[in-house]
Amino acid sequence: MVSNKEDYDVVVIGAGISGLLSALALSKEGKRVLVLEKEGYLGGVCRSYGVDGYYVDTGVHAITRLEKGPLRELMNEYFDVIPNFVPFGTYYVRIGGEIKPFPWSIKDWLVFDLLPTKDRLLLMKSLFNALYLLSIGRDLSTVSISDILPDNISITGKTFLDWLSYFMVGTSIENAPVSRFIDNKNHKPNSLPYVGKLYNLLIAEGATDQGYPEGGLQSIVDSILNSFPPGKVEIKTNEEVLKIQVQGTERIEGVITEGDSYDCNTVIYSGLASNLPDLIDNLPKAYVENLRTIKKVNSLTIWLGLTKNFFNNHGSEMWIDSNPYAWVVPTSNYDPKLAPEGKHLVGFTFILPDGYNASTSRKKALDTIINTIPDIEKYIDMIHYQELIPEKACWAINSGFGDVKTPIRNFYTVGTDAEERSAGISRAAYSVLRCLDIMKSDKTL
Ligand SMILES: Cc1cc2nc3c(=O)[nH]c(=O)nc-3n(C[C@H](O)[C@H](O)[C@H](O)COP(=O)(O)OP(=O)(O)OC[C@H]3O[C@@H](n4cnc5c(N)ncnc54)[C@H](O)[C@@H]3O)c2cc1C
Repeated sequence: MVSNKEDYDVVVIGAGISGLLSALALSKEGKRVLVLEKEGYLGGVCRSYGVDGYYVDTGVHAITRLEKGPLRELMNEYFDVIPNFVPFGTYYVRIGGEIKPFPWSIKDWLVFDLLPTKDRLLLMKSLFNALYLLSIGRDLSTVSISDILPDNISITGKTFLDWLSYFMVGTSIENAPVSRFIDNKNHKPNSLPYVGKLYNLLIAEGATDQGYPEGGLQSIVDSILNSFPPGKVEIKTNEEVLKIQVQGTERIEGVITEGDSYDCNTVIYSGLASNLPDLIDNLPKAYVENLRTIKKVNSLTIWLGLTKNFFNNHGSEMWIDSNPYAWVVPTSNYDPKLAPEGKHLVGFTFILPDGYNASTSRKKALDTIINTIPDIEKYIDMIHYQELIPEKACWAINSGFGDVKTPIRNFYTVGTDAEERSAGISRAAYSVLRCLDIMKSDKTL
C-alpha cells in the first residue's frame, strides 16, 4: 500500500462527538491520532452555527446524566476545559392547549389530570406487571410496550407513551421493547433488576441531572478541541474514507481516501455502521446481515428566531398531541447570547418516519407550530430547517445493532449504533468508554 509519510498509531474516522472523544482519550493516553472527517466541519450532529445573527444547534439537546454519567467520566479524566452547563429545568407536557410539569413522582402522577384517571391507573398497573415479569426472569427484549398495555387505555394515554417511546427509543410503542426502558447500570446479580427508565418516569425525583451547555452545543466540541495535547492529534476535514484496508481477513492495515492513504495499526470508525460493508471487503456474512438490519432515527428541527418570547418557563415542552410529535426547547432562555439582543431562539424537533418527504414534512411541522401557538407567525424573524440523524440505530424489536467490538482485530466502532446504553451524547460517550476498555484488554492501549 502506498502510504502517507506520517506515522499514526490510530486513525479515527469521523469527527462527531464520538470520534473526537475517542481522539482526545487516545491522545491523552499517549497515542498519535489522525482524525479524518468527510465534511468541511467538526462535531457531526453535535455542533452549533450562525444563521442570521442566531446561533443554532444541530437539533434541540438536553445533556443527560451530567453528574454521574459517561460524559462526566470522560470530562473528568481527559478534558482540560469543561463547558459550563445550565440546569435544564422542567419538562412541561402540552396536551390540548394545556401545559403541566411532567409528573415525575407517584404523587404527581396520580394528580396529573392531562391524562384521564383511568389511564393513569392502567399505566401504573402495566408498570407493576412489567416489574413482575422481570422478577420471574422473563426476557422482555421481544415484548413491546404496546404488548403490555391494557386494551382499554385511551388514545391520549397511548399517545403519551408513544411520544416518550419516539423520543427515548426512536420508534413507536409497537416496536419499542420493554427492555429498552430498563436500565441495567445498577443491576446486581441475584437481585431484582433496577427498572431505571420506567422508575425515573414514574417514581424518581425528576430529570435533575441534565443541563444545557452555555454557548450552545459547540462549547462541548470546543472544549474537546482545546484539550488535545499539543502535537498529538491531526485532523483533516473534507477527507472521506472510502476503504478500510484489512490484511488477510482480520488485521487492519490502513485507510484509503480519495487523494491519499494512511498506514496504521488501529482504526476507530464513527460513521454509520450500516455503511461498513461498502468500506471493508470480505466481512463475515453474519456480521454484515446484522448491520443491514440497523434502523436509524430521522428527525426534523425547525429553529425559529422570534421577536416575542412565547416560552417563558425555564425548561422544555413535550407536545404530546401534535402531529408529528414535537419537543420544544427555547435555547436562548438558557443562554440569551444565542439570539440577537431582545430576540429569542426556539428549536422544535420532530421525529420523522422512514422514507419521509422533506418538503411535505417541513410544511406539516411548521403548520403544527402555527396551529399550536396562536399568533406566533407574526413574530417570526428567522426560520431554519435541519434534517438530521439523532441516533444511528434505534433500539427496536427485530432491528439490528452494531457493537464496539468487530470481527477484525484492532478495528473498533463507536457512536450511537455501537452501544445500546442510554441515548444520544451519553450513548456516544458510553461507546467511547467501552472502546477504551476493549482496547486495554486487547493490549492496543
Ligand atoms: C434533532 C436532534 C436532537 C438530539 N437531542 C439530543 C439530546 O437531547 N440529548 C443527547 O444527548 N443527544 C441528542 N441528540 C443526539 C446526539 O447529538 C448524537 O447522538 C451524537 O451527536 C452522535 O454523535 P456521533 O459521533 O455518534 O455521530 P455523528 O455526529 O453522526 O458523527 C459521525 C461523523 O462521522 C463522519 N463520517 C461518516 N462517515 C465517514 C467517512 N467514511 N469518512 C470520514 N468521515 C465520516 C460524519 O460526517 C460525522 O461527522 C440529538 C440529535 C439530533 C439530530
